Amino acid sequence: MQQVVIVGSGPAGYTAAVYAARAGLSPVVVAGSVTAGGSLMTTTEVENFPGFTDGVQGPDLMDAMRAQAERFGARIVYDDATRLDLAGEVKTIETGSGETFEARSVILTTGSAYRKLGLAEEARLSGHGLSWCATCDGFFFREKEIAVVGGGDSAMEEALFLTRFASKVTIVHRRDDFRASKIMAERVRADPKIEVAWNSEVAELVGENAVEALRLRDTVTGDERALPISGVFVAIGHDPRSELLTGQVDLDDDGYVLVDHPSTATNLPGVFAAGDLVDRRYRQAITASGTGCAAALDAQHFLAGLPACRRDRDRTSGGVRMSATITVTDATFEAEVLQSDIPVVVDIWATWCGPCKAIAPILDDLAGEYDGRVKIVKLDADANPQTAMAADVTSIPTLGFYRGGERVDVLIGAHPKPIIAGKIDELIV
Ligand code: NAP
Repeated sequence: MQQVVIVGSGPAGYTAAVYAARAGLSPVVVAGSVTAGGSLMTTTEVENFPGFTDGVQGPDLMDAMRAQAERFGARIVYDDATRLDLAGEVKTIETGSGETFEARSVILTTGSAYRKLGLAEEARLSGHGLSWCATCDGFFFREKEIAVVGGGDSAMEEALFLTRFASKVTIVHRRDDFRASKIMAERVRADPKIEVAWNSEVAELVGENAVEALRLRDTVTGDERALPISGVFVAIGHDPRSELLTGQVDLDDDGYVLVDHPSTATNLPGVFAAGDLVDRRYRQAITASGTGCAAALDAQHFLAGLPACRRDRDRTSGGVRMSATITVTDATFEAEVLQSDIPVVVDIWATWCGPCKAIAPILDDLAGEYDGRVKIVKLDADANPQTAMAADVTSIPTLGFYRGGERVDVLIGAHPKPIIAGKIDELIV
């Protein structure tokens, strides 16, 4: 029986974990199989998190928060919560790999998910020129013309970051004024590589196997035109990730969890919520951290009010993770992959890719589980562009599945463990 299970792992979840762990509650954090660390894992520089004079990289900030929570005894589980039962005194949380946790209290911090454009071609072209992560995939669009869709801070940030690689960035925004903060909008306006297509929406992503152009529709006149580009990055906001909570805790019409402000208490005793899952107004890393802290204090207060016999503490501590994957380079790819006696999974990643970090523990686990039957190797695309480019990679993480010197399958993006394991099973039959 756990005292506290935290479901979700952005700034809210990890801050709640730091506070709950320091209070001796040994929290379990169900961090997500591919979303561990939350949205900051796909951002670049965070300039406004207090305490960092020169800014901090989003993934570095989240790594530090996670490590801080682990230092005090939080256990991080890199899996998704797939079923929750939060109504009774004992709450249950089931994960994708079939583990079930029972807990006296639960803190919900599942954050928000990227909004999609809602176009039919979106699934087909995702990872083939269509991306939601400039920090992961911008690298593959050197000297290319690309577009960013959106008019908020995220779109400004992505467009500015992408000017490092692209020859030209066109921001496609549906109105004639940005929603973004003044400082970000001014930086964009001052950048000679950035143009803005005002009053424009994406009517179609054009391209069979990869994005070749956007069909833009003028939101005032209805006129349409083609914008030839090689890549498009979507940054049109987020929606709360509350699908699992429907019918359990009270939500508002847009799916945000309702709490009893100024506390983080939901309508269910012992269930608290924090971060972007609750907050439709501020949505900053620091406000998410603040409410995560409040949720841990609220949970602590709730547990202190339970009869002593129910407060038996389970002091599980986090284990030390050993890497079982092998590193390959452009120079060793031939010998380690193409001439391997057993099938090989190649993880093409880079240090600046948050989702790559998120799936690293899954690949480590699988390398151990399939030891001797399949080899899992990692290739840093930044340091070894030749192999990545030869494999037509335009989005990372990309997993290549090799047998007998041939690539027989590809999996683009971060996916949960059962999906990767399923691909490996197909590879080794
Ligand atoms: P956001 O502020 O909600 O902006 C979303 C943008 O996408 C808006 O311009 C919106 O247009 C547009 N949009 C929404 N749905 C669309 C659709 N279906 N088709 C086309 N366009 C659509 O989201 P965000 O930029 O992700 O920012 C979220 C929060 O994080 C904000 O509070 C922001 O300040 C914060 N943030 C801060 C920083 C920073 O400080 N450096 C960086 C990133 C994010 P309309 O304007 O017409 O509604």
